[in-house]
Amino acid sequence: MNKPMAYKPTIGLEIHVELNTGSKMFCSCKNDSDEHRPNINICPTCTAQPGSLPVINEEAVRKVIKTGLALNCKIPEYSRFDRKNYFYPDLPKGYQISQLYFPLCKDGFLEIGGEKVRIREIHLEEDTGKLTHPEGEDYSLVDFNRAGVPLMELVTEPDIASASEAKDFASELQLIMRYLDVSFADMEKGQMRIEANVSVGEKGKLGIKVEIKNLNSFRAVEKGIDYEIERQREVLSEGYKVLQETRGWDDIKGKTYSQREKEEAHDYRYFPEPDLPPLHHSKEFIKEIKGEFFELPSQKRKRFGREYELGEKEIEMFVQNRGLGDYFEKVISELGPNLPKENLSRLIKLSSNYLITDLQGLLKGEQVSDEKFLITPENFAEFVVLINKGEISSKIAKMVLLEMFNSGTDPSDIIEKKGLAQISDISEIEVIINEVLAKNKKAVEDYKSGKESAYQFLVGQIMIKTKGKANPQIIKDVLKRSLTK
Ligand SMILES: [Zn+2]
Repeated sequence: MNKPMAYKPTIGLEIHVELNTGSKMFCSCKNDSDEHRPNINICPTCTAQPGSLPVINEEAVRKVIKTGLALNCKIPEYSRFDRKNYFYPDLPKGYQISQLYFPLCKDGFLEIGGEKVRIREIHLEEDTGKLTHPEGEDYSLVDFNRAGVPLMELVTEPDIASASEAKDFASELQLIMRYLDVSFADMEKGQMRIEANVSVGEKGKLGIKVEIKNLNSFRAVEKGIDYEIERQREVLSEGYKVLQETRGWDDIKGKTYSQREKEEAHDYRYFPEPDLPPLHHSKEFIKEIKGEFFELPSQKRKRFGREYELGEKEIEMFVQNRGLGDYFEKVISELGPNLPKENLSRLIKLSSNYLITDLQGLLKGEQVSDEKFLITPENFAEFVVLINKGEISSKIAKMVLLEMFNSGTDPSDIIEKKGLAQISDISEIEVIINEVLAKNKKAVEDYKSGKESAYQFLVGQIMIKTKGKANPQIIKDVLKRSLTK
């Protein structure tokens, strides 16, 4: 369906990411999102007892700057924390320590599908506690384990043009967080939370900004934004005005709904945090963070294409599944440095195929980095070499891999112990084929009178007799020769 071009969507994202530091933002309490017992990791500071004072967590500052550098941001030498005042039961101090005027990182960008999405700023703040409302009760419970956990907020410019681009931005950002080891960025655990600002402009003018919350999965990001674009288009095409407001996303109904009218920054009465000194970063400090080696997903994609000449799909698999990508590289380095180039590229292709299809099938979602995983890269490399040399057929290879997976045994040991080596000796195969032909005279006659299916039947009989171990090419050659005698 053609939509009138007069309506143009503009999308910006605000993404909160919980940092995976050892301790909280302003105290030494453990930062542990897996702690399910309430109010275990708390102290006077993160529960705002009178007289307690905050101390800045340097690890958190480093992680935000590292992220900023990876996202092409400027890192101003001066930065500062501000107080954002609001009242809510999960916020013990009655204000949140955040950054409004002097964020840690500014003016960066991330490329998505060849288009630059500008990043306005990345700042550091603290997370709130969590409220639970027991069903049927007239009270609520508050858990302060999360209060004071370092929270990074990244704000993009409204450079995103579609819901799918927004989803791609968010998922690439998640991958980068994980590569940099700044956050586990698990959306289901609330370690990464996305809000989208959507406005639909009319006749070249910018529209009214509507904020969507509760986008708890990448799917929700895409569906929620799509829904909102359509809703605003309809409002405008009926001649009404879009209201500036915050809307929630209802994943079950597949709709956004009005939550409240948007607060302005002045509603929060921001002012410089008096309990914390401003930050002055030296050039050496920034240089030191820059010097920590990290390879970004985009760099890895390029390198995998260049070094291993893999297809786009395979590369993406190894980039998304970092453990599998690392394992793949270990296997390749075990293949031996002195292989002729042609041979090496065949082995690389085989390794990639067996890792992505057969091994992933056996892993059923488990990771090669798990302790339970028994196949060493050396054994996997040997396995691939054996296939390439024709010592085991692809059918037998699956059996060998399963055995390696279950026991961690060397592939050559498995092949020897179970007698699985491929029969490539022509005379041995000839004897078997002659036996099969003598037993199946009817099929031989059928084939000679032009029935192709009889040929397949004979191949099948030979495979059964050799338990799948005969080299298929030799079977074909010898059988064709015997049948035309
Ligand atoms: Zn604490």
